[in-house]
Amino acid sequence: MSQPAACDASNEDFDLIVIGGGSGGLAGAFRAAEHGARVALLEPHLFGGTCVNVGCVPKKAMWLAAEVGNRLKLAPTLGFAVPEARLDWKTFLVHRQRYISNIHDSYRRRLDAAGIVTIASHGRLLDERTVLCGEGMPLRARHVLIATGGHPVKPQVPGAELGGTSDDFFTWCGAPPRVAIVGGGYIAVELAGVLQALGSRVEIFARGPRLLAGFDTEVTDQLVEDYRQAGVHLQFDYKLGRVQSADGGVRLCDVDGVIGERFDALLFATGRRPNTTNLGLEAAGVALDADGHVLVDELHATSVEGIHAVGDVTPNLALTPLAIAAARRLMDRLFGGRDTRLDQDNVPTVVFSHPPLGKVGLTEEEARQRHGDDVHVYRAGFRPMLYALADVPQRSLFKLVCVGDARRVVGIHLMGEAVDEILQGFAVAMKRGITLEDLRDTVAIHPTSAEEVVLMR
Ligand code: FAD
Ligand code: NDP
Repeated sequence: MSQPAACDASNEDFDLIVIGGGSGGLAGAFRAAEHGARVALLEPHLFGGTCVNVGCVPKKAMWLAAEVGNRLKLAPTLGFAVPEARLDWKTFLVHRQRYISNIHDSYRRRLDAAGIVTIASHGRLLDERTVLCGEGMPLRARHVLIATGGHPVKPQVPGAELGGTSDDFFTWCGAPPRVAIVGGGYIAVELAGVLQALGSRVEIFARGPRLLAGFDTEVTDQLVEDYRQAGVHLQFDYKLGRVQSADGGVRLCDVDGVIGERFDALLFATGRRPNTTNLGLEAAGVALDADGHVLVDELHATSVEGIHAVGDVTPNLALTPLAIAAARRLMDRLFGGRDTRLDQDNVPTVVFSHPPLGKVGLTEEEARQRHGDDVHVYRAGFRPMLYALADVPQRSLFKLVCVGDARRVVGIHLMGEAVDEILQGFAVAMKRGITLEDLRDTVAIHPTSAEEVVLMR
């Protein structure tokens, strides 16, 4: 633990009040307390926020179940005598929720040990230093951290109430026979892969011409191919007009009035909005962007001195490690006397599709916009050994985007078996400014998928 911060205990109840006990809020509270700050944390629901309760953690649990399911489907081809394996969701949910309960317990113990005062209520700013807890007690602090995250939104079309969101998905106890998913981003792709692997017949309705805008087009095209091989149906440029009920299920109707097939369930994965209503931000004078995000500078300061914000409530990339990293650096500055800030360049990210897909750095398109003809692209398209053995057509595609004569690596795009685990190490290397020659100079680990990254020519 570092030296306690020079905190002014005169007329403030706390040095820091954190509004929201999710990824960013908890990380900020713990780090500030490590520096000796007196911290209060307001969270009306479960600790861990979106990530732990209705995001990364239950999603990854479902993804792992789906991976096991996919392996079991391959097994007979390789000679295993495996009866048709169906997941008993209710049994699996017990495992999933027990894992999550353990995380809650661990947070409780750590919060108590750190001496953080937790208050199970909403927070609302009364002014730049005062936070009202629920309808009761106003508390004052030198600093306030807004970490209230976001929530899923549905399109504004008639009948939208007939569909659920990712929050609803995590209450499901089984795979409906036919599921429609509207959206083409992270959540649509991830939930489609899980549901298809666990027995649903899934159809994705994306309003644009491709999946996962912001990822490399060639790589996402290969994912589309792999999804089609796995039985997922995809419709692009689909403009939803309304949803109507049909025998306990739904039918989608496009803007031209064309009514589609019946589905047992409908999920909207059409983005998220920040939780900034009823927070008293206007009263405190905190500036928001057009979508309601709290505007912050590169130090995560808002337009009002002493009020800071991190995570999904800001316009930054909505990823758990970014919320955590931003909060820790902020607290190191406010209470630890360190001049540190978050570098948001080259943030690695993985989509937990089947197979997974990940990127760090620039896509080929972005690199060409920035560096013109000085961009050099290297690819490896291959069938991972397990799929070749089982004679499954699923393919991997790895891509390096390099610039200049030195072939400095500015983008790494991986789609295929195990890339969720492979990418992190290469992201470190890319942050260190490696070149293609550095990769080629590294002896391969054989036989793996990862070796394709150092063998590209
Ligand atoms: P949150 O974790 O949402 O926490 C905000 C907290 O604030 C909540 O607990 C809420 O109850 C509380 N709150 C709200 N209003 C108030 C108030 N007025 N007073 C007090 N408390 C309040 N990211 C990844 O990096 N990897 C993944 O694999 C991944 N998978 C995801 C899967 C899904 C389905 C979803 C929806 C998201 C996923 N994310 C993933 C994104 C990740 O969950 C978020 O980026 C992360 O949780 C943001 O953390 P946060 O602290 O900003 O907000
Ligand atoms: P995304 O922003 O990733 O995708 C939203 C999708 O919905 C886009 O395809 C968008 O289309 C489409 N869309 C938006 N509005 C409408 C509409 N009115 N009608 C039809 N389609 C619409 O959001 P998600 O909800 O999938 O995920 C939210 C965020 O959470 C992600 O951006 C990511 O930051 C985080 N997350 C991270 C994960 C991870 O790290 N593995 C997993 C899950 C979530 P268009 O592209 O045309 O705008």
